[in-house]
Amino acid sequence: MSINYKDYIADVPDFPEKGVIFRDISPLMENGAAYACATDEIVTYAKSKGAEMICGPEARGFIVGCPVAYKLGVGFAPARKKGKLPRETVSVNYDLEYGQAALYMHEDAVKPGQKVLVVDDLMATGGTIAATIELVEKLGGIVVGTAFLIELKDLHGREKIKDYDMFTLMQY
Ligand code: 5GP
Repeated sequence: MSINYKDYIADVPDFPEKGVIFRDISPLMENGAAYACATDEIVTYAKSKGAEMICGPEARGFIVGCPVAYKLGVGFAPARKKGKLPRETVSVNYDLEYGQAALYMHEDAVKPGQKVLVVDDLMATGGTIAATIELVEKLGGIVVGTAFLIELKDLHGREKIKDYDMFTLMQY
């Protein structure tokens, strides 16, 4: 089935602040055929990379990554915000436009040598995905690729992860 994915993205001006156009993926998730089609495309990419585990950051990385993991028959390891994971964690700090943030993973979430596909809904500056990649690598995982529904090209996030292969369904 061929789909124009952008028909399922709502462009929301001035959210979360003035001057920003937020690309809302909710309509895509809410449409069973579009969500399945997007998932299948990432599954095909994940298979081509030999992914043995999917990892994604809170929260929309879960929406994209979990159905991919299920369909592939592999596990999903979440990267979460501070205070969410109950056992021993590793963490990475990263810069936001204003201030800093941190992501955490359970220290046994990824096994050394495991091939991991890192996914999120959207790449803007690339900070979130770079932090998630760093976490996977701290655990000894091998990042075999990255996948997104959307890439915001003007923000040049790709430069932050230029050593990694990247798959995207939509670009703005
Ligand atoms: P980055 O770290 O690449 O600057 O920002 C990407 C992260 O912010 C992703 O986890 C993504 O969910 C969120 N994000 C930033 N802008 C948007 C947007 O316009 N739409 C959506 N759906 N997520 C966004």
